[in-house]
Amino acid sequence: MEELSLVETLEEEFLAYIKKMEALEEALALVYWDLRTGAPSKGMEGRSDVIGVLSEEIFNMQTSEEMAAFIAGLNLDKENLSEITLKTLEESQKKYDLNKKIPSKEYAEYTKLVAQAETAWTTAREQNDFAAFEPFLTKILEMKRKFVEYWGYEENKYDTLLDQYEPGVTVSVLDSVFEKVRDGIMAIREKIANEGVKPDATILNTKISEAKQKEFSIRILNKMGFDFEAGRLDETVHPFATGLNTGDVRITTRYNENDFKMAVFGTIHEGGHAIYEQNFDAALVGTPLANGSSMGIHESQSLFYEIIIGSSLAFWKSNYADFQAITKPAFDHVTLEDFYRAVNISESSLIRIEADTLTYPLHIMIRYELEKALINGELEVKDLPKAWGDKYEEYLGIRPDNDTNGVLQDIHWAGGDFGYFPSYALGLMYAAQFFNQMQKEIPNIDAIIASDDYSELKTWLTEHVHKFGKTKKPLEILTDTTGEGLNPTYLLDLLEKRYAYVYQFNK
Ligand code: ZN
Repeated sequence: MEELSLVETLEEEFLAYIKKMEALEEALALVYWDLRTGAPSKGMEGRSDVIGVLSEEIFNMQTSEEMAAFIAGLNLDKENLSEITLKTLEESQKKYDLNKKIPSKEYAEYTKLVAQAETAWTTAREQNDFAAFEPFLTKILEMKRKFVEYWGYEENKYDTLLDQYEPGVTVSVLDSVFEKVRDGIMAIREKIANEGVKPDATILNTKISEAKQKEFSIRILNKMGFDFEAGRLDETVHPFATGLNTGDVRITTRYNENDFKMAVFGTIHEGGHAIYEQNFDAALVGTPLANGSSMGIHESQSLFYEIIIGSSLAFWKSNYADFQAITKPAFDHVTLEDFYRAVNISESSLIRIEADTLTYPLHIMIRYELEKALINGELEVKDLPKAWGDKYEEYLGIRPDNDTNGVLQDIHWAGGDFGYFPSYALGLMYAAQFFNQMQKEIPNIDAIIASDDYSELKTWLTEHVHKFGKTKKPLEILTDTTGEGLNPTYLLDLLEKRYAYVYQFNK
């Protein structure tokens, strides 16, 4: 009995320690939100200092002697811990190992390097000059390769990095899945090129006021089940969602009066992220488990609403009249079919964040192949711009004529974020696979989309995905929910069906 009560004490102490870290994280997230949504410019410098202090405190707590003692002590009595403590322990240990395996001098050097590299990247991008950024990226890659040696790896060095964003997903899984997706997308693109009737996208080039875009976006957020009493919508240049706690999840959007798609689809996207965070199980609050399972699963929730639902024919069938009424008279003479086809146009582009649903996974595969080769020492930074151009030519049939439109367009590598890109494409595959299962379990989905209340869809996602937070790994969620591992067929079927309609070719 006495021993048990000792363990309980250690467990309680650990959870209190974790709760304090989570409180600091929430404070940090709020400071960031404020910084990005309109803090006065003269306050920026002081604010950066506060961010530095809070971040350092969290890092220190993650890697402290006290944390080491918790990990050692609790591991001795694992079988007596609650499931939440056990999973929290696993998360804490993972973070501890990640940080502690790197000599602190090298870690400090790396943190400084990344900050400098992001500044160098911004300038190099403005001046269209990869050579100015090259030494920074070379050094980051050199350090990252060394870190992988410290962290250790089994089959492929890149697996170790991938695991930090998409736990459990490996190069061998991705290689085979991406190959199928690439072949499938290429086949659809060939159909479009040979038999497709191109939609007229110019019908969308009409001015819609910010107020009207906002009215429609909020109407959709309400249908989706975004809880405005547990969240808010603001405006920023770079839209994002941030969950402070389950009762306070904030999203932002950007209005462009000449392109309503940005705000409408952007708000639906961020709304999907937010609904995930609003619906974590209450028991997880105050632990790191009240977080998305992975980057990819998080993205699957935003893309489910933006692409699977919000860009579907069923959605526009039921919402177009409303949209026409709000934006009156801009679309008075545009038929539903013409509108829907225009919204889903697909074209090769050089810029990832401007890509459509069909070509987007190709942009990701290009980055995946390049960074995998970089990490494994099969490609050097100096050869990157040419390799980038070659891949774009191979996959999308176009070649950037400068670095800004090419290799300098994403901030990820400047931030040392190797292994992040695949999550974007995985999110789309997860979303399609969830939707396929949802259709089996909820047969009248189109009728739900035709109504004012999508809560049945939200409830399904909450029961299968949201409530688990980080207690389940991505492939675990997928298998438990759909009865199989990652299967790209569902995404390819959806794309084929959608683009056959949009481009009027026979499947
Ligand atoms: Zn997203």
